[in-house]
Amino acid sequence: MDFSSKLLENAVNEVSRLPGIGKRTALRLVLHLLKQPSENTKFLTEALSGLRENVNSCEKCHNISDTVICAICSNPNRNASLVCVVEDIRDVMAIESTAQFRGLYHVLGGKISPIEGIGPQNLQIESLVHKVKEGEIKELIFALSSTMEGDTTNFYIYKQIESYDVITSTIARGISVGDELEYADEVTLGRSIVNRIPFEQSIKS
Ligand SMILES: [Zn+2]
Repeated sequence: MDFSSKLLENAVNEVSRLPGIGKRTALRLVLHLLKQPSENTKFLTEALSGLRENVNSCEKCHNISDTVICAICSNPNRNASLVCVVEDIRDVMAIESTAQFRGLYHVLGGKISPIEGIGPQNLQIESLVHKVKEGEIKELIFALSSTMEGDTTNFYIYKQIESYDVITSTIARGISVGDELEYADEVTLGRSIVNRIPFEQSIKS
């Protein structure tokens, strides 16, 4: 691309670093911003830099949060002994939107994936095992997507905690194999949490 302005070129280059955004889309977005009142660009840049500088992860569940303990973990009306294991915030949002789950979450931050070089040590697994060891959790629900990485991660965690006094279950497979949770509709996802099955049953089938 041949730019008539260095400033425009810089902005396009930065925007095109985002996933799924090519140079042409980046140019379209930047030109759109140029047509808007300058406050809009100011709000956008402030929102992004504020996010980067101030966002935290909850000390208990590792979900993205503005506070040390997130709103879900600090809600006394939620059942702290029932914990749903998910990959990231998108899964928390998907499950919350079903309004079928009143326990807490544990956000792993990804799935074990040797191809991508992600091992158990790169995920929030140790703190989860610790919570189980301490007896804080009565039931653990595995709600990772049913891909090979999801299954491997579930099984790895299960092996770490099977000797402890904790019930393990997995969301019912209304979610088809390979589906990511965030794409499941609310009714299907809600039903799959309510109708969860013992984890042992899922690894035998
Ligand atoms: Zn939390």
